[in-house]
Amino acid sequence: MNKYLFLLLAVFFIIALILYLRNNNLTYMIEQLEQEIEASNLYIEKLKSQVDSDNMKIISKEERLRNLLDDYLNRLNNKAQEPMTTTGVDIASRQDSLKKEQMFIPDLLPVQGEYIISQRFNEKHQGLDFAASLGTEVVAAAAGIISQTYIDKYFGNVIQIDHLNTYSTKYAHLAKILVKKGDMVGKGNIIGLVGDTGNSSAPHLHFEILLNQININPENILKIN
Ligand SMILES: [Zn+2]
Repeated sequence: MNKYLFLLLAVFFIIALILYLRNNNLTYMIEQLEQEIEASNLYIEKLKSQVDSDNMKIISKEERLRNLLDDYLNRLNNKAQEPMTTTGVDIASRQDSLKKEQMFIPDLLPVQGEYIISQRFNEKHQGLDFAASLGTEVVAAAAGIISQTYIDKYFGNVIQIDHLNTYSTKYAHLAKILVKKGDMVGKGNIIGLVGDTGNSSAPHLHFEILLNQININPENILKIN
């Protein structure tokens, strides 16, 4: 008789444990969703306050950047076939191409609005942290293609951009991701909103720059005033 009682108790215990873990997981998911909704609402309010002409400007800018990116990709494809010329170097066209290459160097501050640098790059911390208020716009540090978006237990909502020139950048702890894998983005395009998803104690952007897949100090590249 005691044996059955023990078995019954064991079954009850296991069911209780499963329910507890499930509940924990749901609570975590609800917290993340609430944060996404809050950041999104803040962002929507900000967008509402902008006039329509601003939106027109953004569209035409995106189109322009898209053309620039197409042009750059064509250029990369054609590079191998380009003949080497030693005479008649067109300086204007060189300057033009340098300007275009600059579009793909991740030197633009990835947060728009007020921030403070809350953690710097070192051996243990492979990125640069920008503490900013929830819902602050996160922008692409350079033009490129969204190579990945994912949810990570430590980094929360993450975006990675391939800048097509051995540089790539990573944006973590986002409240909301506004792009998807394969999207083309221009330098300064809004890609997400600052949050504190994952292992984070306050809203901030964790930003990384990689050169040939190796983390480098973002402060060596970024134009920080
Ligand atoms: Zn960090």
